[in-house]
Amino acid sequence: MNKKTVYIDMDGVIVNFQTGIDRLSAEVRAQFPNDKNIDEAEGIFGLMDPFEGAVEAVKKLAASEKLDVFILSTAPWRNPSAWSDKIDWVHKHFGIEEDSPLYKRVILSHRKDLNKGEFLIDDRKKSGAADFDGLHIHFGDVSEEEGRDGSYPNWYSVIDYFEEQGLLD
Ligand SMILES: [Mg+2]
Repeated sequence: MNKKTVYIDMDGVIVNFQTGIDRLSAEVRAQFPNDKNIDEAEGIFGLMDPFEGAVEAVKKLAASEKLDVFILSTAPWRNPSAWSDKIDWVHKHFGIEEDSPLYKRVILSHRKDLNKGEFLIDDRKKSGAADFDGLHIHFGDVSEEEGRDGSYPNWYSVIDYFEEQGLLD
């Protein structure tokens, strides 16, 4: 059977970026006035919580015989700890062993359009997301700045969509 490939972004989709900012020390935070380039703070990606329902939803998609699920995220170029913190985060929330739904299924890229597949669940258009060949499920509330129409405001709406398409077991 031909499985459909689903790529899932991390920040703003399964990872609540703001919770990482909130846990930085005052000293570190002061190094990034107005939070500009705050994603370059060392260790910040290890401090973030998942969004409500996100871990369960990813597990639900990954459990479907009809879907092949991968993480497709971008790590800041100038923050080497982000690259390792992201894999640690996946290990922590999904497990490290072969029975993890995301075992060896993590891709970090600045060119998401180069990945082949049917679905990309992403809150933004950058790093190639807007040029992805399949369907861009533009995750999050309505946002003029991000060009989102709010069709998929949260994980419940995403799961509903896959259910309607008959792609869940
Ligand atoms: Mg994102």
